[in-house]
Amino acid sequence: MLYFSAELIFTNIGKPLTKKVIVTDNDGTILDITDKSNVTADVMEIKGAIVPGFVNAHCHLELSHFRGKLPTGTGLIPFIRSVVTLRDSPELEIQQAIKNADEEMYQNGIVAVGDISNKLDTAATKDSSKISYYTFVEMFDFLQEDEAQNTLDQYLEVYNNQSTKGQNKRSCVPHAPYSVSKNLFNLINDQNNDQKTVSIHNQETPHENQFFINKKGDLIDFYDGFGMDLSQFQATGMPSIDYALTHMDSDLKTLFIHNTICDKRDIEAAQNWNDKTYWITCPNANLFIENQLPNYQTFIDSNAKMGVGTDSLSSNWQLSILEEIKTIQRFQSFLDTETLIRWSSYNSAEALGYDQLGSIEIGKQPGLVALEGLNNRGDKLCDVLSASRLI
Ligand SMILES: [Zn+2]
Repeated sequence: MLYFSAELIFTNIGKPLTKKVIVTDNDGTILDITDKSNVTADVMEIKGAIVPGFVNAHCHLELSHFRGKLPTGTGLIPFIRSVVTLRDSPELEIQQAIKNADEEMYQNGIVAVGDISNKLDTAATKDSSKISYYTFVEMFDFLQEDEAQNTLDQYLEVYNNQSTKGQNKRSCVPHAPYSVSKNLFNLINDQNNDQKTVSIHNQETPHENQFFINKKGDLIDFYDGFGMDLSQFQATGMPSIDYALTHMDSDLKTLFIHNTICDKRDIEAAQNWNDKTYWITCPNANLFIENQLPNYQTFIDSNAKMGVGTDSLSSNWQLSILEEIKTIQRFQSFLDTETLIRWSSYNSAEALGYDQLGSIEIGKQPGLVALEGLNNRGDKLCDVLSASRLI
């Protein structure tokens, strides 16, 4: 058996614990949480806090080879243009970058990932990884209704060969409201059952809303630039999220990703549509691409279930959930550590259906992560230099 203690233990069930010891078996299953005075064996003492393993609710592992290659602060549309045009790199470089990124996440205390895949590049790494992956096979047809069936057929090959080893799972998902036709939404819905979780990129830039409200804004130039015909697309007069709500299946757990410009009405519209909605924030990617963060108070006021993601190394400096929650607390300091720890593991584990993860409770196997340097009030995440894995 193994014994761990820290000045603070964030269990995600009730208030943080003090003067307690977590007892696990050698595989990390929690056997007991007991008073220090009950333990005579050697205890590993952490100066700081112990938290459950992090769950990264949004990543694109297959874009890891973009690390350090794309400019910051360009805005979303030029950013996507760069990713689409620069995507092909030597196969060996792509594979090595994926392996390194997977190892980096493990070292940073991440135990599960919701990972977007357009290709099969990550399947081999996921098969042998110590992390559990929920692969979201992401589809888009640039709003070309006639292309929907071809697009689906092409991506089903990617879906069929995704890793399902161990705890790995998969589903078919739409990319974003502005890139998926009505036909393709329907075809994607037909692939999933109500046990699945799906995700969609949502309201990352004001241009998305403008596109749907009056068919104006920079997305028009984006489509023009790729020679895409938009004659089949009609403005809906509503924000982009309403198009997603009209065409997605409200019975599935649904992750809305980014939500940088989402307002109270948008959040409530989605929550009225489906009571299994999760709001995934990727703050460092938002700063990298758009130089903007969501207004988190709006989400709290609407009782939104929040999760945290890193996005990919094309739009981030590292893959660390600790760095994401440090950023949130640095810019919106009203958010306390206890809340952010819940966002970083419990909510995302629930969203991805990993019941063994997300909280330190007897019988679960959440992974334990040390946040050394967190003071005993637990109020300054920025004091923590790194998250290290205990088990
Ligand atoms: Zn993304």
